[in-house]
Amino acid sequence: MLLPVAILFGLSAQETVMTSPTSRITSAGNAGTLLATPGPADTTPMVTRHELDAWLARELQVHRIRDYCPNGLQVEGRAEIRRVIAGVTASEALLQEAVRMGADAVLVHHGWFWKSDDVRVIGTRRRRLKLALSNDINVFAYHLPLDLHPRWGNNAQLARVLGLAPDLLPDDDASKPGQPLTAGPEGLLWIGRAPGLSTVGELAERVAQRLQREPLVIGDRDAPVGRVVWCTGAAQNMMEDAVAVGATVYITGEASEQTTHMARETGVAFIGAGHHATERYGVQALGEAVARQFGVEVRFIDIDNPV
Ligand SMILES: [Zn+2]
Repeated sequence: MLLPVAILFGLSAQETVMTSPTSRITSAGNAGTLLATPGPADTTPMVTRHELDAWLARELQVHRIRDYCPNGLQVEGRAEIRRVIAGVTASEALLQEAVRMGADAVLVHHGWFWKSDDVRVIGTRRRRLKLALSNDINVFAYHLPLDLHPRWGNNAQLARVLGLAPDLLPDDDASKPGQPLTAGPEGLLWIGRAPGLSTVGELAERVAQRLQREPLVIGDRDAPVGRVVWCTGAAQNMMEDAVAVGATVYITGEASEQTTHMARETGVAFIGAGHHATERYGVQALGEAVARQFGVEVRFIDIDNPV
């Protein structure tokens, strides 16, 4: 459950500004503080909705990935975009922040319209949609395409944050030079090592320190760290795929009741590092790429989530 917005602004929402050198933003270091000096509309860097949608679709290879939500523009807002709010989830709190900051678009990993959703426009769906539609805000969402992207993706960025070294496909695979070695459905599992760390306990400490959240650890903390397999978010049901490719440790966001038994019975250590905590970084990297490409202002807003 989300905290009341007033509390989020004061204590929990953290923002990171990703602007290009040409941006008109002067400073915005504090949570909930907007210190903008918007220039004349005709000189502020701008991208059209259509151009941004097309660029993101191409860069993230959206057409190649089968998903259970629409990836790309989910809700159409104004045609010209100068200010973007990036976040993990298009929650009501994130939309409120976007409205408060006068954003033209939100860019998220978890959007709306999931396959299993009730399609009626009532309750939370109505409130979220109303915020977007009545304020003419575009909603762009990238789910699996953002998990999978070899540079900006959640798995790639989690590796960077945790200092994991992904294994790469052999050089003789000319079609995919420098691509990560992956496994599991859609290649969602990344495989690699944890250089400089020798035990599962040390890896767990690294996770706690870098993600600022105590992980759930199931397994022997003194066991050698060996081969690490990871997938951000709720990928606990892919642990068997991780075991099949020789993992000694499996890192994902969430756990289920049976995850405990899977870890105990296979001897593969499980680290549950948080769904939100493991998926904060892909959308930030994507936001930075958008800011670099188009010169528009992009801010990452972290709506705190203990899950
Ligand atoms: Zn997720």
